[in-house]
Amino acid sequence: MSDRPLILWFRRDLRLSDQPMLAAAAASGWALVPVFLLDPETEALGAAPKWRLGLSVEAFGKALEGVGVRLVLRRGSALDALRGLVVETGAGGVWWSRLYDPASVARDTAVKAALKAEGVEARSFAGHLLHEPWAVETGQGGFYRVFTPYWTAMRGLPVTAPAVAPTGLRGVERWPVSDRLEDWRLGAAMNRGAEVVARHQVVGEAAARSRLGAFLDGPVDRYGEMRDFPGVAGTSRLSENLTCGEIGIREVWHAGLRARDEGRAGAESFLRELAWREFSYHLMHHTPEITRGNWRAEWDGFPWRGDNPDAERWRRGMTGEPFVDAAMREMYVTGTMHNRARMVAASYLTKHLMTHWKVGLDWFADCLTDWDPAANAMGWQWVAGSGPDSAPFFRIFNPGGQAEKFDADGRYRRRFVAELSGAPGPEALAYFAAVPRSWGLVPGQAYPAPVVELAAGRARALAAYGAGKA
Ligand code: FAD
Repeated sequence: MSDRPLILWFRRDLRLSDQPMLAAAAASGWALVPVFLLDPETEALGAAPKWRLGLSVEAFGKALEGVGVRLVLRRGSALDALRGLVVETGAGGVWWSRLYDPASVARDTAVKAALKAEGVEARSFAGHLLHEPWAVETGQGGFYRVFTPYWTAMRGLPVTAPAVAPTGLRGVERWPVSDRLEDWRLGAAMNRGAEVVARHQVVGEAAARSRLGAFLDGPVDRYGEMRDFPGVAGTSRLSENLTCGEIGIREVWHAGLRARDEGRAGAESFLRELAWREFSYHLMHHTPEITRGNWRAEWDGFPWRGDNPDAERWRRGMTGEPFVDAAMREMYVTGTMHNRARMVAASYLTKHLMTHWKVGLDWFADCLTDWDPAANAMGWQWVAGSGPDSAPFFRIFNPGGQAEKFDADGRYRRRFVAELSGAPGPEALAYFAAVPRSWGLVPGQAYPAPVVELAAGRARALAAYGAGKA
């Protein structure tokens, strides 16, 4: 097949370096046809992740042009679009980097079987993770349900060095017609929020690499202590880049290892957090239902509330609980939320408001530019108590106590909740420019009274837990 072109189907691997599929394709010498598809699975993404992925596609298209090829855009079911391109270009193969969420696995399995049956080489590569989710096994050959032994098993495994970026790729002589990215209107559901959230996005491979460098130049030293303080820029903020594959996880890992070997204090903690990402994929691979239902079936009878008016106040950052509202507004303004704030906001929804974690998971999947199917599912079930290795349900975060501990000077709360400050800053005010007009929120409005008194909410949750014995 070497005289026939090769189609490279890019999805969440929008980078040139540390790209096993691209490295193999470049080495093959075949003419390449890089493609990105707006298929139903991609159309189904939430508003912010879909818009953010579009920014990444745009940047990656430019990067590919820099090495001599184009990114062809097509819309439609993956199999139909790929079949069409195979016919148009005479390609002998279609390659891609593996994804692991249930929808992608179902799609890719069907695409692979159909293409192979038609005599087209369909081949998938690793690249999204340090280790394939099935590659880390317990001594008995099973999978890990608890993080610490997973980490013990994983941290010693060798990680292949990242592949270098190709400097020139050979494309086809006659390029297939491509859709125009702007015609896809990937940001349509963001409405006026896009302009606000755009200020906080760091898009593309070069920018992601600079971000990693900036983190390793300074904040990594105090990462262990500072990663819990949302008012401090103490973490890498790489999640939005990792979820689009703008930077390779092996590159990040090896950079973390070098920092550790140089004696940088927080580097080991940073590597451990990267392992949480891996663990979430390990869990999603072995128990795909984690994305949809309670990981522990005994929670199925728990009297969670479905969507309700209190949850709507939570979504709008109007619970009257400043730390929770700051968290929700941070997400609406920046597209991400600090990890400590995610835990507090999720605990408040699932415990004080007794609302099903799925309600929160869905909202995060609509609003996070760093949305990740595995990390989001694991995070929600961990906080709710229904997941593997979870915080016990009866350990209920008190948002007031959490604020005193992790935002003692109130910097984070004032940064995002305008009503708490006499002179609100730009991000607090940007919230009102980002939210739908129909919410009727305006600067200068009165801050609401709490949805629920904290002690009463906690008592209600504990009573339900005691009665249900989930
Ligand atoms: P850093 O602290 O710099 O960590 C480096 C990287 O390690 C992160 O970019 C991320 O890839 C990984 N990581 C760190 N903590 C975790 C964790 N607890 N679980 C999995 N991976 C981790 N993360 C997402 O990337 N996407 C999500 O949709 C997502 N949803 C979450 C929902 C809830 C309810 C909770 C509690 C956590 C969620 N997380 C999610 C995990 C975590 O909050 C983010 O990864 C982190 O805040 C990203 O910031 P950072 O890049 O500065 O992380």
